[in-house]
Amino acid sequence: MDLLKERICRDGIVKDDHVLRVDSFLNHQVDVTLLSEIGKELRRRFDGEGINKILTIEASGIGIACIVAQSFDDCPVVFAKKNKTANIDDSFYSTRIESFTHGRVYDVMLSKEYLNPEDRVLIVDDFLANGCALMGLTEIIEEAGATFVGAGIVIEKGFQPGGDNLRAKGYRVESLAIIDKMDPVNGITFRE
Ligand code: 5GP
Repeated sequence: MDLLKERICRDGIVKDDHVLRVDSFLNHQVDVTLLSEIGKELRRRFDGEGINKILTIEASGIGIACIVAQSFDDCPVVFAKKNKTANIDDSFYSTRIESFTHGRVYDVMLSKEYLNPEDRVLIVDDFLANGCALMGLTEIIEEAGATFVGAGIVIEKGFQPGGDNLRAKGYRVESLAIIDKMDPVNGITFRE
């Protein structure tokens, strides 16, 4: 998606070889027009798949998922919550996710009320790095007996193993910009 790649080159900040900051348009201040284009592109890629629910994880996935949902017939968005307390009762699905950016492990939880066997689910997230967030969400979908149609990712860091691992498992992962390498001096190289 050229519009997105241009924006990453213009406004993204390569902190080091592994962390890209996109605070000015995605993770802090949000460009809603860009998100709307992202939604249209994901709809084009997943058209005809009967997606009726979008799943993401708090916090940065929520805003993106809500705008993307407008391109999927305003389907509901449900987000997994990061839980700080250990007492999760059996009205929740839960799984453990290691956060790439914060370097700690979260229990994430999602009410059983909001994910059902008739759901055909698109996972939406801002970044794909090691794939822990995405793997955790697929586990929750499986536990619910719902169908995981695929993942729509804004930025995949292709030099980290998440995308390759998930595709090797047979999952459909559509990333709108894939970065093959980056560093603060030479900038960003995208996959063609
Ligand atoms: P993963 O679970 O794939 O290792 O990491 C995915 C999550 O970590 C994303 O939801 C995103 O919030 C965060 N993340 C991973 N890499 C980056 C990065 O380079 N920049 C930012 N801003 N967030 C990242």
